[in-house]
Amino acid sequence: MNRSTGHRLLCELRRTTHRFYSQSRSQPRRTHLPRTLTFALGLGAIGCTSLYFFYPDPSRSAPTSAKVPLSPSHFTPAIVLSNELSGPDTKLLQVTVAPDLLPPNDPANPSFAPIWSVYIKDDDIQVERPYTPLEGIDERGCMLFWIKKYPKGEVGRWLHAKRPGDQIALRGPLATWPWKEGVWDEVVMISGGTGITPFYQLFHSVISRQTDQNTRFTLLHSSRTPADIPPPHIMDPLTNYAAENSGRFRLGLFVDSFDGPAAPSHLPKAQIGRIGRGAIEQSLGLSNAQDSWWTRIFGKTQPAKPVNGNILFLVCGPDPMISAIAGPYGRNFSQGPVGGVLREMGIPSKQVWKL
Ligand SMILES: Cc1cc2nc3c(=O)[nH]c(=O)nc-3n(C[C@H](O)[C@H](O)[C@H](O)COP(=O)(O)OP(=O)(O)OC[C@H]3O[C@@H](n4cnc5c(N)ncnc54)[C@H](O)[C@@H]3O)c2cc1C
Repeated sequence: MNRSTGHRLLCELRRTTHRFYSQSRSQPRRTHLPRTLTFALGLGAIGCTSLYFFYPDPSRSAPTSAKVPLSPSHFTPAIVLSNELSGPDTKLLQVTVAPDLLPPNDPANPSFAPIWSVYIKDDDIQVERPYTPLEGIDERGCMLFWIKKYPKGEVGRWLHAKRPGDQIALRGPLATWPWKEGVWDEVVMISGGTGITPFYQLFHSVISRQTDQNTRFTLLHSSRTPADIPPPHIMDPLTNYAAENSGRFRLGLFVDSFDGPAAPSHLPKAQIGRIGRGAIEQSLGLSNAQDSWWTRIFGKTQPAKPVNGNILFLVCGPDPMISAIAGPYGRNFSQGPVGGVLREMGIPSKQVWKL
């Protein structure tokens, strides 16, 4: 295990990766305003809404080509195969790009190394947002996404309306968080809502394939209600793997309330309340509570890692959740100092990454 390698990786990541929720919301406003547009804004001639929609972001105005392989520099057409409701405001969307547009399968090319995402463009308003293929991409060019629709969200609503046979455009792959094997003893992933998608991709590509035998993983996931818990396509592999590999992978579910229909009985019983210090400490075996949710679910087989072990905390979810657990993002899309629960626990920034 090499802590300085871990620290170096985190420093590199601070420069190269992008964040899950907040960046995408502000992304269309992020690039520098041309003088003319600034002037027009000053005159009040262009409102925020039209700026948001029509500001000429060079990336989302990237060309579309059905002739060159999938790449971050241009959009590639993709066909919707299915788009199934998977919760009150989520859908499982399956799309495919033509197999001859897949980049060459070169082991030296880390493009599809987890965790990666693609930008999907809303053709109606020329806005793009990043989404995470749950299982990466297969040799037929298929990708599966779990997509949430926000009441006033643009691209999520647009994608929810897509039907089998419709064409969309996407560009990528782009690195969300480049996983490196053999660096961490333990990885604690904390997610809320669709923030589980990058962790599911890591689970599918790395954890369940047992390529890294020396790292232990914990996923603590929170949803608003049992009906909002991710669909069986996501939860069943996680649940089954956790049951069969409890020494390597642990799963804890949390809900804000038990309102509405109950969760399927084969899932781990969700705990009510937010993921807080107690839950994180219990997952690390730092709590002596005999009747904790962890011991009720997993018996006495708590991991025995001290908090100052070589542990990485990855956090992905809505801004308020990120802030409560790891502190808010910094300015200019930086990670910002560690705050919230992880700061209370004395976790240094080299062991925290906010996706
Ligand atoms: C690397 C990465 C991977 C991602 N993967 C996924 C994924 O797999 N699945 C997924 O569902 N999401 C994912 N996201 C999030 C996704 O990119 C979008 O941010 C999300 O879908 C919302 O986009 P939208 O266009 O639908 O909503 P937006 O239009 O961006 O709105 C988002 C929220 O802001 C609110 N809002 C909109 N306009 C305003 C306004 N003027 N003032 C105040 N609030 C406003 C909306 O009501 C909504 O709550 C990922 C993000 C990143 C960075």
